[in-house]
Amino acid sequence: MPEESSNYQTIWNECLKIIQSNLSQEHFETWFQPVVPVSLKKQELTIQVPSMFYYEFIEKNFWKVLKTAVRHVMGPDGKLAYSVVMQDGKYGKDKKTLTLPHSSTEAGSNQPAMPPLSKSVNDDPHGREIVNPFVIPGLKSININSQLNSQLNFDNFIEGECNRLARAAGFAVAKNPGKTSFNPLFIHSEVGLGKTHLAHAIGLEIKANFPEKTVLYVDAETFLQQYLEAVKSQTINDFIHFYQMLDVLIIDDVQFLAKKEKTQEIFFHIFNFFQRENRQMVITSDKSPSSLAGFEQRLLSRFKWGLSADLQIPDKETRVRIIKSKLANSGITDIDEEVVDYLAYRIVTNVREIEGALISILAQSSLNRKTITVELAKQMIDKFVQNTIHEISIDYIQKVVCDYFNIPVYQMLSKSRKGEIVQVRHLSMYFAKKYTNLSLAQIGARSGDKDHATVLHACRAVENQQATNPKYAADLNNIDKILKNA
Ligand code: ADP
Ligand code: MG
Repeated sequence: MPEESSNYQTIWNECLKIIQSNLSQEHFETWFQPVVPVSLKKQELTIQVPSMFYYEFIEKNFWKVLKTAVRHVMGPDGKLAYSVVMQDGKYGKDKKTLTLPHSSTEAGSNQPAMPPLSKSVNDDPHGREIVNPFVIPGLKSININSQLNSQLNFDNFIEGECNRLARAAGFAVAKNPGKTSFNPLFIHSEVGLGKTHLAHAIGLEIKANFPEKTVLYVDAETFLQQYLEAVKSQTINDFIHFYQMLDVLIIDDVQFLAKKEKTQEIFFHIFNFFQRENRQMVITSDKSPSSLAGFEQRLLSRFKWGLSADLQIPDKETRVRIIKSKLANSGITDIDEEVVDYLAYRIVTNVREIEGALISILAQSSLNRKTITVELAKQMIDKFVQNTIHEISIDYIQKVVCDYFNIPVYQMLSKSRKGEIVQVRHLSMYFAKKYTNLSLAQIGARSGDKDHATVLHACRAVENQQATNPKYAADLNNIDKILKNA
């Protein structure tokens, strides 16, 4: 035993030398000092990393240098695996370790590249390429890699008002793929709000409910590339047949097909086939079907056949829950509530920004062995996260307006009909309409459970007052200045 232990330690030390000479000192210290080698079995070196985010970060950013180091030190058969110290389950208190492969040595990397079409259809062991996969009996059972990322599941897709409809529709589709009226299910939002995550979650849930179904996740860019390749190699039939073998097609970021008429034509063809056969399609896009540009009308009208659901920026309370869940997934349990609250308050753009901020804060704290305080969080956000401060959230607007009139936010959100409270409520709604892209209904819901007509009425009332009452207009102007300087 001791002999072996010194062995893997020595091997890892050798690897570290190579890694160190390829990275900046800061990166090396942050990411590789906390790593410890734990075993060496059959040419596979296992290293332990402190959390899931370490694993993901290292795999994403340093896999090349790791691969080089491992191959150099251990020879061409050298392999690497990770052992990640994890929370057991979402809220569990027990620690467990999870073993994960290194992307260069095992199949199933973080972002698996779609294999070339002819291979993914069926890579004949004898090296023959099957030209028309569709006519081979029993072909359906051929294992198509779904390209789903098991980390992007429903369990860790936090529910909030911002995604309730899309999430519920996704869930319904996963229970009954192709059989609901949500076909296609069209999910749209701006970047970083969870389209890709939800798309994977739906695919995973379908696979869990119906293991025999063939599910494929593909982003539209890959689809486009495959199509171009098929044109080049004159294998368009294979291409279409491949897609017709699927029970469920999840196509991410369909906006990439804008102005690609030929690809759209093929997609149209596949789409119609799916409809005829009651097979499920899930489509995501950065725009709603009505505002997607560069698409043929017949395709756009089909996008509207099923259900179109959007994802919005999560409200502060949902942001808090997302942050907590991300931290728990990274094995971090002892962070101050105040820090979580601060992060949720500061980062109002999208969930990806929140994750970015968390990673820099966690990295910084592990680098300097600092505890994570609000002050540290603030420094990191000021330094690394751009465009957070200038985005104005409804929470912030409500706070500014209430502070201006010295009224607690909870009173503004109450049912009170007292004149000054109503006035503050109206102004908050007015500024929310001006500065956020929330709908009237959403503003109402976030202003003490009012409906969209109330918000509309409030905005008109504010404009009337502004035109007729100079004192009021001055207050409005002052608040506007505060918000603009935020
Ligand atoms: P999009 O595809 O809309 O650009 P992503 O699906 O890539 O967005 O989401 C960006 C990041 O935010 C991902 O890491 C995702 O896991 C995370 N995320 C988004 N929404 C949620 C949510 N509701 N709960 C947990 N994580 C989320
Ligand atoms: Mg995406």
